[in-house]
Amino acid sequence: MSEIAKQREAFEAKIREYVGVKEGPPASGPDLVNEPMIRHWCEVLGDENPAYLDPNFAKSSVHGGIVAPPTMLQAWVMVGYPMHDPALVKPNKQNELHALFDEHGYTGVVATDTTQEYTRYLRPGDQVTAETTIESISEQKATALGIGYFIETRTVFTDQNGEDLGWMTFRVLKFRPGEQPAAPKADDGAPAKPTRIVSPRGHDNTWWWEALDQGKLLIQKCSSCGALRHPPRPMCGKCQSTEWESIESSGRGTVHSYTVLHYPPIPGYDFPLPVVLVDLEEGTRMIANIVDCPIEDIRIGMKVECRFEMTEGDINLPFFYPAK
Ligand SMILES: [Zn+2]
Repeated sequence: MSEIAKQREAFEAKIREYVGVKEGPPASGPDLVNEPMIRHWCEVLGDENPAYLDPNFAKSSVHGGIVAPPTMLQAWVMVGYPMHDPALVKPNKQNELHALFDEHGYTGVVATDTTQEYTRYLRPGDQVTAETTIESISEQKATALGIGYFIETRTVFTDQNGEDLGWMTFRVLKFRPGEQPAAPKADDGAPAKPTRIVSPRGHDNTWWWEALDQGKLLIQKCSSCGALRHPPRPMCGKCQSTEWESIESSGRGTVHSYTVLHYPPIPGYDFPLPVVLVDLEEGTRMIANIVDCPIEDIRIGMKVECRFEMTEGDINLPFFYPAK
């Protein structure tokens, strides 16, 4: 066995010891479930469901009172601002495992996916406690970011009576930056430009992508109350109807906000990468890249129009450019 293979075997034996290990003791959220936090969450996400916000409506609903959006489950136990500095967070087994990866050159980390399941609605006064287990570590994988391992954790949430509230799995890739697998070569032998990651198409959004392939920018419209929504999703946030149709957008709009991404570099994009949030003239918003516009000239309120461009990897995408 080569020296490198021996080192890898020794490293993998060390990381395998963490599989099945609890991250630390169960941790309770700093605050009980409360209405102000629910209101802030709904405000940020634009969720106007009165079961979360209007005590009178909530009282007369099936819930009998205010409930929290189920997707807040993890928010109740999050550490908050100290998370930006590992030195401020209490040591735990997951951090220890990440440090072990770092020591062996796997210094990169990227979250890849998460799944949550909810057992019941949370109500003001509930105390959420979470316990996280390092559930699995994959075989070594070659990814577009570099060679690495996927680490999956499972967090189980319980209430003040020890009753089940739901669970969450969370997966990250720990990778060696700069050890990319050999890039595909173009015909002239030069490394081919990496292509954009293809957006996942599923039951709820394939129709939108297929229309885009035909050069149409569609907006989903609730058949019941007429509210527009984007990106595509199964239920109306205003009236909870699952009946919908679509209208075609003119592609004209106004920059509501924008940001310029510098890091981390994602294959298939040129950096710095300007991203705009556009108020479409039909009355909903969408996010896309802006082109034909120097970054310093991007302004909130500027008029933009949309055009479609086939990107590498045969993905037709909408791009905004300054309106003439
Ligand atoms: Zn509706």
